[in-house]
Amino acid sequence: MKRVLPVLTLLSILFVSSCTSEPATQSDPVDYVSTLVGTQSKHSLSTGNTYPAVAMPWGTHFWTPQTGRMGDGWAYVYTEDKIRGFKQTHQPSPWMNDYGCFSIMPSSVPDPDEDARASWFSHKAETATPYFYSVYLADHDTFVEFAPTERAASFRVTYPQRELSYLVIDAYEGVTEVEGDRITGFVRNNHGGVASNFANYFVIESSVGFSYVKCDSGRYAVVGFPTERGQKVTFKVASSFISPEQALVNLQELGDGDVDRIAADGRERWNDVLGRIAVEGSDTDHLRVFYSCLYRSVLFPRDFSEITADGRRVHYSPHDGQVHDGYLFTDTGLWDTFRSLFSLLYLVYPDQAEKVIEGYVNHYRESGMLPEWSSPGHRDCMVGNNSASIVAEAYFKGIPGDYETLWEALDHDAHAYVEGSASGRKGWEWYDTLGYVPCDVGINESAARTLEYAYDDWCIAQLGRALGKDVSAYEKAAGNWRKLYREDFGLMGGRRADGTFPEEFSPYKWGGDFTEGNAWHYTWSVFHDIPGLIEAMGGPEKFEATLDRVFEVPPVFDDSYYGFTIHEIREMQIMNMGNYAHGNQPVQHMIYLYNWCGAQDKTRSRVREVMDKFYTAAPDGYCGDEDNGQTSAWYVFSALGFYPVCPASCEYAVGAPLFDKLTISRPGLKEITLTKNSKLFSRPTFLHSEL
Ligand code: CA
Repeated sequence: MKRVLPVLTLLSILFVSSCTSEPATQSDPVDYVSTLVGTQSKHSLSTGNTYPAVAMPWGTHFWTPQTGRMGDGWAYVYTEDKIRGFKQTHQPSPWMNDYGCFSIMPSSVPDPDEDARASWFSHKAETATPYFYSVYLADHDTFVEFAPTERAASFRVTYPQRELSYLVIDAYEGVTEVEGDRITGFVRNNHGGVASNFANYFVIESSVGFSYVKCDSGRYAVVGFPTERGQKVTFKVASSFISPEQALVNLQELGDGDVDRIAADGRERWNDVLGRIAVEGSDTDHLRVFYSCLYRSVLFPRDFSEITADGRRVHYSPHDGQVHDGYLFTDTGLWDTFRSLFSLLYLVYPDQAEKVIEGYVNHYRESGMLPEWSSPGHRDCMVGNNSASIVAEAYFKGIPGDYETLWEALDHDAHAYVEGSASGRKGWEWYDTLGYVPCDVGINESAARTLEYAYDDWCIAQLGRALGKDVSAYEKAAGNWRKLYREDFGLMGGRRADGTFPEEFSPYKWGGDFTEGNAWHYTWSVFHDIPGLIEAMGGPEKFEATLDRVFEVPPVFDDSYYGFTIHEIREMQIMNMGNYAHGNQPVQHMIYLYNWCGAQDKTRSRVREVMDKFYTAAPDGYCGDEDNGQTSAWYVFSALGFYPVCPASCEYAVGAPLFDKLTISRPGLKEITLTKNSKLFSRPTFLHSEL
């Protein structure tokens, strides 16, 4: 991480430390953020699978320096030597890949080829922050700086003396045109789930005219111009999912394009957002991890809306290809993020949450379904119907919204499924008939689906009851998890359509009946009825012993379902915590369950063990895929001292508060102040309303 400490701050630290016993002047929250955490990843082992997003919180377009080729999900890898471009990106995860992306690259050669234009760089000549990025491109003797707004970015490029210096525009699978000092084009690259007219229209305005233009109306354009040593050229870049005209409107976000001013504005915005949580009494290492995680927690879901020239907020709908009023949010997989990312949004950013909930109403209106994995439209990835959780939790946490329409959406999606997406419920006919999705009817990961549907039914029942609906069927279905409990093993497992359990059963088998996990992980997916699970297991002692077993058994695994060791398995195997797999989401609430069986000490010690071992502010600072804020939100909550085991219940399990004191400030709401000695922390759980 490179951070520029203002000279005054350094001086004041020296002055203060030599003259008084007062603590040194505190840096701003954004100064603790490293955007490079999680970038030292590869296919076979993820330490986050992130890229250094240079963006506004929940911004429409992100930017990243690019070490990988166009199309490679590993856009920026810490251990790579060369930068190939600066990419406007919308990628939520390398496994989902990017859409609507294009790159620009200053160069000393007019060759647009990704290898020809690539340049060696050093992290020592790189400054990476959320609101500003700079790097020295050694092979071009060129220094690049840029700062983003919500939908645009301004680049300041310092060139050496050359008869011609260049800017390469890589439109990937799109089209580029050059007219005067303006470059325009559009890109259509995507991975499905969008209407046929999907496009990202871009515009680039240069502060210098071009004396060289090579443009084949194809993937690449190269523009050239003579430069003096130290000459700074500004490129203002914006884009729109709506139209080329709207891209020009979005370009106005940059004003005069002054990178320093835009970076200062961006810094202020980031400090506003990160500063909603102020903490006291911690060392710098913890602050770096905490605010780096908070940064990752406020990037997604992405605001897909744009502001028209006459000031209206509208969005292009990936569903019907039309432009509609209001918000739309995308690039989140609810299988991951229902667990605590949305809970953090509702607690700390309820004003932002209101917009997100409006966006979900619009998803339903425009597509007839709530997206379980949106990027930007419905995608087919993971399982569950966890939109029920995020909607019910929003309602009970007082987020304003059109819950009559959302109720209609949940009631619809619980008995529907669209092939080729993850939306609705795959196997819902079986589930509605038998109370579970059988493991022998050709539907994969049936037990994971069943357990999550049962929790989702509980969420729908809670919301429906509050809205005065008949929820008797959902209330009954909330108990469906019992149908998969195997008395013979004391764990959950897949069940055949004839009601019998398969004789062959291994708690170490990943996949099959489960999703990226095994029975040790999924047995705890009874978020809404932990007392019921304790009873089924034979009481608190047996429940506690089973929790202990997850850590005590060796990290052996059966990966036959996949045919190779998926990275999530490897990330469990190497951590020396038995079969506990914090690097993936299904088990991330498990440690907190000790609170329900009188073993709160074990929650405290295990939570702290995970925080200390698996999270750092270094480039390998996560223990598996970060996944759109979920793995970060786990740390943020755990540092605060509590965690939403059952998000829609509004109950928090108490853990091990990291800070002496914390303050959460939200506009229009009462400030939340907690100290390590707060009474709430002396209990196993407390309610959101008690904060
Ligand atoms: Ca994951």
